[in-house]
Amino acid sequence: MLTKVKDWVDSFGNPIELLCYPSYPSDDNILLVARFHGDEPEGEFCLRQLLSELEQNKWQSPYNIYILPCLNPSGKKLFTRANGHGVDLNRNYPTENFSSTCVNPHVKEISSGQPASEIETQIMMDLINGYNFKRILSIHSDLHLIDYDGPAKELALKFSQICGYRLVDEIGYPTNGSFGTWAGIERKIPLITVETWHAENEEDMAKIYAELKPAILDFCNLK
Ligand SMILES: [Zn+2]
Repeated sequence: MLTKVKDWVDSFGNPIELLCYPSYPSDDNILLVARFHGDEPEGEFCLRQLLSELEQNKWQSPYNIYILPCLNPSGKKLFTRANGHGVDLNRNYPTENFSSTCVNPHVKEISSGQPASEIETQIMMDLINGYNFKRILSIHSDLHLIDYDGPAKELALKFSQICGYRLVDEIGYPTNGSFGTWAGIERKIPLITVETWHAENEEDMAKIYAELKPAILDFCNLK
């Protein structure tokens, strides 16, 4: 049965919820997370659709599946990439390559804050340090590809083959202080990043979920 495990609060009083679809008996945990960037609703849509299907309890998995559908509720309210402090939450991790500003071809220069300055980053770090995840799926948009960090090449290849998204091993621009670097490369947790295509409306988001669903079910070993 789907249960709410945590209900954190960000610096602006917005809830950040973590749910779990447990497997008995299992100590093997996996994590699905979306909406690091407030202006990317596609991943959250997919995880909420998955949650509503999990509520019907029709699948089993050997994993405890932890789902965090929206890491950046303040950015979601503002519909901005950054959180309410203007910080890019996917550049805020205290990695060896941390850099206080980040630039990529798709957005203007945006602050990375100070390493782990944001409560959303601290929440994620506590989560990763506490739950010993076997694999992580992180959903972004709009590049329409699959990327991976850490020992996830086979997993990423399979995910890419199932959903038909192109697999790359680098996104093509620096991602200093990213979650993938911190959790995948530095902590060696197999981590896949899905970049969906850009949805113009809810109908597009439903199409994206339909495309990704078989790959997500396979990733979670849900049957
Ligand atoms: Zn993103």
